[in-house]
Order: sequence, then structure tokens, then C-alpha cells
Amino acid sequence: MIDWSAIDTVLLDMDGTLLDLHYDNAFWFEHLPRTWGARRGLDVQAARELIHAEAERRRGTLDFYCMTYWSELLELDVAALNAELAHLIGLRPQVPEFLAWLQMAGKRRVLVTNSHRSGLDFKLARTGLDAWLDAIVCAHDLNAPKEDPAFWPRLRAQLGFDPPHTLLVDDNAHVLRAARDFGIGQLLAVAQPDSKAEPQHLPDLPMLHSFAQVLPQVCEPG
Ligand SMILES: [Mg+2]
Repeated sequence: MIDWSAIDTVLLDMDGTLLDLHYDNAFWFEHLPRTWGARRGLDVQAARELIHAEAERRRGTLDFYCMTYWSELLELDVAALNAELAHLIGLRPQVPEFLAWLQMAGKRRVLVTNSHRSGLDFKLARTGLDAWLDAIVCAHDLNAPKEDPAFWPRLRAQLGFDPPHTLLVDDNAHVLRAARDFGIGQLLAVAQPDSKAEPQHLPDLPMLHSFAQVLPQVCEPG
């Protein structure tokens, strides 16, 4: 399903693509509302609804992904709270095999994330993911999130990639569509970003159910 001969650069999202989104969902939908709510005499459901309403107002902006923004808004140290769930941070299945194969095949592997720098560094330290990557780009450094059309020319200026010869793997449909509009040659949408949640269906995008699907030669059982 991927024409590898046409690809020289692979752009890889972090949360929900290389890492299990279960950590982030457990944090934002359970741990944060529970902790924040307890300080204000709110039950977890009421706290979750208030935080969700705030999040919806910021969706698609850098603030949505910014720990400093959330720490100030909620008056608690979000980065410190993040560390309490560190045991849930984990790679999605076959990620090391996939990244090792890309290197063997001579493809440049670039992590491109909307994650705030402190969250990024925290996850890299926990997983050792940076050992399998050739470059890392944080959207905050380009002043636009990946779902913003302004992000893509800035990324090209920084990395020097050729869009038709580039593959993007991401779990966010808005990001994938912005990349498609910019001319990124091939796209893969992660079907099940959170191992504990239901898969997503995106009819207009090619779905990635498992990295084995694009790498049969290294991932066949036995
Ligand atoms: Mg993601």
C-alpha cells in the first residue's frame, strides 16, 4: 500500500502514532480532572466537562498542546502531574521494528509533534525513542500546530524535504488533511491510537491498522 521507492522522508507523529495514546487519554480524561476537581470540590465528571469545554475553545491552536497554558489556566503544575502517570507511557506495537527497517531502507525518520517541549522530553526520556530518529521537530518552535496550513511551508523550510517523496504517519485527521492539501505524497492514518479505546474510521484517508501491514518482510510471525 506504500510505494517505498517514491519515499525518502518519513514524518512520524508521536502521541497515538509511535506512542500509545492511552497515556494521554488517561491523563486528560481521568487523572487531571480528578486531581483538579478534588481541589475545587467537583466530582470527576463535572471537572472533566469544564476542562473539556475549555479544550474545545482552544482546539487546533498551540495553546491546546501547551502545558504552560494549561498550568496557568487550571492553576496547577500540569507537567508535574504528568509524571504521576509515567508508567502508562509506552510504544505502540512494532514501532522499534518499523523505525529500524526505515533506517535500513535509507529513509530519513523525522518525529514531528504538536506536543509541548517538556512533554516531548519527558516521553523521549521514558522510551528512548530518540535513538531511532534522525530529527525531531516540535510544532511550538514553528509557531503553528500541524493542523494549521501555515505549519507545512515552515516545516519544509526547516527540514528541506520534497513533499511528493514524503510519507506522513499520524492519528489526527485534521493534521493528515492539512498535509494532503500541502502536497505530502503519501499518508497513513493510525486506526487505533489508544490501545484501550475503539478504533477510528476515516473514510477519506488510508488507514494503518498495524505497522506489519506496511512491512510484511520484517513483521511476519515466526
Ligand atoms: Mg497524535
